[in-house]
Amino acid sequence: MVEAFAVASGKGGTGKTTSTLALGMALAEDHDVTVVDADTGMANLLFHTGLDDVAVTLHDLLVEEDGAAPTDAVYERFGMKVVPCGTSLAAFQAADPERLRDVVADLAANTDVLLLDSPAALGSKSAVLPVVLADRTVIVLQPTIPALSDGLKVQEYARSYGTETAGTLFNRVRDDEGIDRVAEQADRYFGGETLGVIPESDAARAARQAGEPLLAHAPDVPASAAFREAARRLDVRDGASGDVADRFRSAVVPDQV
Ligand code: ADP
Ligand code: MG
Repeated sequence: MVEAFAVASGKGGTGKTTSTLALGMALAEDHDVTVVDADTGMANLLFHTGLDDVAVTLHDLLVEEDGAAPTDAVYERFGMKVVPCGTSLAAFQAADPERLRDVVADLAANTDVLLLDSPAALGSKSAVLPVVLADRTVIVLQPTIPALSDGLKVQEYARSYGTETAGTLFNRVRDDEGIDRVAEQADRYFGGETLGVIPESDAARAARQAGEPLLAHAPDVPASAAFREAARRLDVRDGASGDVADRFRSAVVPDQV
C-alpha cells in the first residue's frame, strides 16, 4: 500500500465518479490501483464501468451474515481492481458502515493506491468514513464560488480527522467561466494545488452511457489529457502497506458527524 485517497466534493453530480476512474486509470500505468465505490448510498460507479449486473458488490461485504469475502467484490477492469457498490436502498439500509473500515483495510493490504469514490454529504457515518480513513482527499469542484464554499466544508471536516487535501480538481469547466480567478481563490484556501481543470466534455457523457471510464472510451480528448496531468501532480507517496491497513482497522468511526 502506498496511499489512500478520498475523491470528495460538497455536492453530488460534480464528477467524483468520473474523476475517481480517470485518476485510477492514469495512476494504474505506474501503480497497482484499486477503486472503491464508497458512495454506498448513491452508488453509480457500477454504471461507469459496465458492472451493473455483477453478482457481488461492496454492499454484500457490508452485511454481516452475508459471508462474502472482499475479493468476491473485486473486478479486474480497465487495468485496475474495481469494487462496485449496489444501488438497492434495502441493501444500503442493511449495510453496517463500520464494516466498511475492515473491508477497506483488507483491500488496502493488497494494492498500492486506493481511491475511494466518496459521498457528497457529510450527514452520516457511511458518508464521512471515506474521508476519515483516507490519507488525503482530492476535492472535485465545479468552478463557482458556492461550490468552493461547499468544498471548504469537506476540507475542514477531513482535516479535523487528520486527512489533508491533496488538491482540487475543477470539472465541467466551460471557456467562459473565469476559471483563473476561481482557481486563484481556491489555491488560497485549499490545501495542495489545483491538480487539473477538466473541460466540459461530450466524451465524458458518452463514456458513462457506454459504461466505460473516460480514459478507456476517449483517451485522446482534452479532458482525458487533463486527468492524466492531474494524476501526475498527485505525486503518490510511499508508505508501508501493513501500516495503512492497520491504521484503517484501528480508525475510530465518529459517532457524531
Ligand atoms: P458524481 O459521482 O459526483 O455524482 P459523476 O462522475 O457521476 O458525478 O458525473 C455526473 C454526470 O456528469 C455524469 O453523467 C457524467 O457523465 C457527467 N460528467 C462528469 N464529468 C463531465 C465533464 N467533464 N463533461 C461533461 N459531463 C461530465
Ligand atoms: Mg458518483
